[in-house]
Amino acid sequence: MKRLQKEVDELINEFGGYWKPFEMLAAAVEELGELADAMLAYERIKGEGSLDKIQEELGDLFFALLCIANGYGIDAEKAVRDTIRRYRARDSAKWNKVSKNKREVSKENDT
Ligand SMILES: [Mg+2]
Repeated sequence: MKRLQKEVDELINEFGGYWKPFEMLAAAVEELGELADAMLAYERIKGEGSLDKIQEELGDLFFALLCIANGYGIDAEKAVRDTIRRYRARDSAKWNKVSKNKREVSKENDT
């Protein structure tokens, strides 16, 4: 992730530097909307789409998020790892219970 952040940083600096924080936020929100459209299309809820389009929009969103991380000097990998740690600490009991319930329902459906 550090390498990706560095590549994004080099590209942005080639293009003249980062946008203002709320411009970067607007770009990320716009890309999230495009990802939503791509997913709705792929799931045939709104038109027809492709996994390639979802991948493209995910890439755009990640790029926009990495720009925000770089703009604030935040280590994106550390941010995600911290989130994983929080999920693990906060929700592990809940997820284990959900997984166990799903396995039990699956077994009931198999019989
Ligand atoms: Mg896009």
